[in-house]
Amino acid sequence: MIRPTDTARSPRTSTLPRTSARPPADTGYRSTRSELPRMGQLAVDIANQGQIIDLRRDPDAHARLPHGRADGRYRCLACGHRLILQRPSSTNSRFTPRFRHHTHASGADRCPAPAQHQADIQADLTTMLALHDQLLRVLPQTALSLHIDPDLTGHRWDIPPALIVRHGEQIVVLERPRRLLTPQTVAHRITATRAQHGTKAAHWWVFDRDDPLHCDPAGTINVRPYDQTITHTKVRPTPAQRQLATAGATVCWLAGDTLLIPYGGHQRTYNTHPGEDWSGDMASWKRDWTISHPRPADGATWWGLIPQPLLALGKRPDFRPATAHATMSALQRAEQGRERHRRRRAREHAQHSTQASAEQLRIPVAATATRESTEAPARPASLPHAMATVPSAPSTPARRPQQRPSVRHRGLRWAALLPRRWRP
Ligand SMILES: [Zn+2]
Repeated sequence: MIRPTDTARSPRTSTLPRTSARPPADTGYRSTRSELPRMGQLAVDIANQGQIIDLRRDPDAHARLPHGRADGRYRCLACGHRLILQRPSSTNSRFTPRFRHHTHASGADRCPAPAQHQADIQADLTTMLALHDQLLRVLPQTALSLHIDPDLTGHRWDIPPALIVRHGEQIVVLERPRRLLTPQTVAHRITATRAQHGTKAAHWWVFDRDDPLHCDPAGTINVRPYDQTITHTKVRPTPAQRQLATAGATVCWLAGDTLLIPYGGHQRTYNTHPGEDWSGDMASWKRDWTISHPRPADGATWWGLIPQPLLALGKRPDFRPATAHATMSALQRAEQGRERHRRRRAREHAQHSTQASAEQLRIPVAATATRESTEAPARPASLPHAMATVPSAPSTPARRPQQRPSVRHRGLRWAALLPRRWRP
């Protein structure tokens, strides 16, 4: 993450030039205070769709925008009051451009909003500006700006200002919620975003992987999309995350510089096709999971997460996470292959079961009688094991060892042919 103070020192469209410009003594030192945005540098521009003006990240803004009261277009994020843009009187002036409250034109500038509310707003802005700075590094050619509904200035908001990414005609709207989301909040933000940016704009909701409010880990799953087994983290989606996926928004989690893109995992049980036998040891193979993608579908019991570098988003103006989607397609192919394999085993199982039954019917009565007289009556408890060995006594030339049905299963079928008193 780049410190806000670093990004303020050079134009927005450059990539990582501040690192070398940073004084050595400053390197590696990050106090909490230095990361907090200064409210005097920020204002909502209600004449420009609620864009948040950041005088530190946009050093040309004070020269480009009208100064003074400017018909009340600048509003305080915390209290909603009108602000005045003050700028240097000359190019030689060392005065730092800033916003001041309209009602406090002289003396110390003080925001009348409660301290807790101001702290909340600052925390939201810190989160969003961190994402802004992070994206700036990977998408240097895009225009990034924070926007808030102008009506929300001065009020407590449920969702921080949205980060708008413009790349040519393409618009991506990124949300980064911190508080618990209600269905109404989510629906309202989705509707408002579509109304403002159109249905073609991509709407991303980026949750923090370490935020227990928005990330409920559910173990891991080993998958094999390609030639090797990899482990994916699973999460239990929150109702809001399910709502977002159903509405067509993209939900993801951010972990450092890695995005985690979800697919849906649904429990399934194979239905039985003609000629298949899923009994015995095959029973556990009947249960499997199926994927829904590129977004998790309604009803997914868990979501698997595919990691993708944040950097990869810069490859496509529409942000489509193509690499993650390709992995999801590979997972679906693997799932289809898995089903074909299991159904083949179930058919083989059925064939061998039938053969075993037929062979049993062909066993001479004398052979059965011999066993009845020598083994079975003495130790009924050992019958399952003994029965498993019985079919090997008659000739079974066609059977290959690796295709043998399970011991337990054959035992049960043999049991049905035995006198009732020996049955387990
Ligand atoms: Zn204020």
